[in-house]
Amino acid sequence: MSPILQDEVQEILDKFDIPNDKLLEMSQRIQKEMEDGLAKQNGGSVAMLPSFVPALPDGTEVGQYVAIDLSGKNLRIMLLTLRGRGQEPSAVNNNYIVPNHVMKGTGDQARFSKPHTYLFTFIVNRLQQFLQEFGLVEANLPIGFVFSYPCELLSIRSARLLWWTKGFDIKDCLQKDVVQLLEEALEMNMSTKAQIKAVMNDTVGQLAAAAYKYGPECTIGVVIGYGCNSSYLEKTVNIKKFDAASRNYKHEHMVVVTEWEEFGSKGELDHLLTDFDRAIDSQSVHKGKQIIDKLTGALYLGELVRLVLSQLILDRLLFEGQPCEKLDEPDTFPTKFISEILAEEEDSYKVCRRICDELEVPMHGSTDYHIIRQVCHAVSCRSASIVAAAISGLLQHLDTSSVKIGVGGALIQFHPTFHDLLEQKLKELAPKHITWSLVPADEGSARGAALIAAVAEKMHL
Ligand code: BGC
Repeated sequence: MSPILQDEVQEILDKFDIPNDKLLEMSQRIQKEMEDGLAKQNGGSVAMLPSFVPALPDGTEVGQYVAIDLSGKNLRIMLLTLRGRGQEPSAVNNNYIVPNHVMKGTGDQARFSKPHTYLFTFIVNRLQQFLQEFGLVEANLPIGFVFSYPCELLSIRSARLLWWTKGFDIKDCLQKDVVQLLEEALEMNMSTKAQIKAVMNDTVGQLAAAAYKYGPECTIGVVIGYGCNSSYLEKTVNIKKFDAASRNYKHEHMVVVTEWEEFGSKGELDHLLTDFDRAIDSQSVHKGKQIIDKLTGALYLGELVRLVLSQLILDRLLFEGQPCEKLDEPDTFPTKFISEILAEEEDSYKVCRRICDELEVPMHGSTDYHIIRQVCHAVSCRSASIVAAAISGLLQHLDTSSVKIGVGGALIQFHPTFHDLLEQKLKELAPKHITWSLVPADEGSARGAALIAAVAEKMHL
């Protein structure tokens, strides 16, 4: 049987429990921001960015496509072979870690060239390496490029970076067309002949991969990875701020990227923030921004748990108050620890014990393990509740009778309870007249990017 938590511990955990009435209030405000975002440029705190993607893949696509997926610290490159309706596609991919100095545009090389060049040269070098491995350097393959940061799209092949999120901070990229930057880097590398067919947010890739797998009823894509965001298929006429005629856009539909992670940057979520959230925000690269990312994303959840554990030690409620130096340092409790701890059976604490040993905690026992697990659970639960509230706001906006929601990202793929927590909360919050289901598509954004490249080719975009 699990030990009973002391009242003082419970009091701290209760700060992460957001009641449903507050979540519903949040859904309504997000929905309102979405409507404002569709109506005017810089309308609300939810940007509602046009993607220029007019349709989702329907299974008829054929050929070989490459995806470059830059989502946080991970760069994934994938080769997807599509064989048409009824035939399973095959995929091979490699992952590369983007080094810190490349993410921040700092380091030795900054003295010699423009900081953005090493991000894009880094990408092209990995692409080159990948294509070489599969003997495809000369193959002239179409590329779908996932760039999962807020961008203003000017066409399906042109994306101007509005601002960085998820710890990236290369100032001389801001307001530049990232496709052009990638193409310049490709040009410098004469041996790679691949061509960029489409650029998109990771949620668009996620949506495309889910629509391919689960059919046309899937019109919403949600990513809960390092950050959290969504996209959905909208009627072009509803995107009131978008002048389709002057952009020569003749399609009935377009995928819209909500960028709902910015909800809260006008203070809308201040009443829900704990001191731990405020600490995360004040240490972040972009203070006061991307509040939803900071409350829900895998880039931040481990750090939140670390801050709570440190407070519990100070309050002498954990490890008998004995200091743990490692836990005083930022980023020593990665989000993968949360997944590992919550994956363990109720009464087994092997993983917790191992992690405490890794953190060099002087003395620890089952009451401590139980507290650590409850902190991981509370932080995860709050994340899932906030994502559910945001999805519920989008459902309300769509006002459809039935929809499939393609979900993906690290928390869906690797966190053992996140999908269920999200589903449960959405049952409580979603409008009752809508039938919905959450459908996961692994490797969604990369796979989807290759699929969107195929759609772009098929539709001669
Ligand atoms: C970015 C979004 C992205 C989301 C999920 C956020 O930080 O701003 O564009 O879709 O993370 O990766």
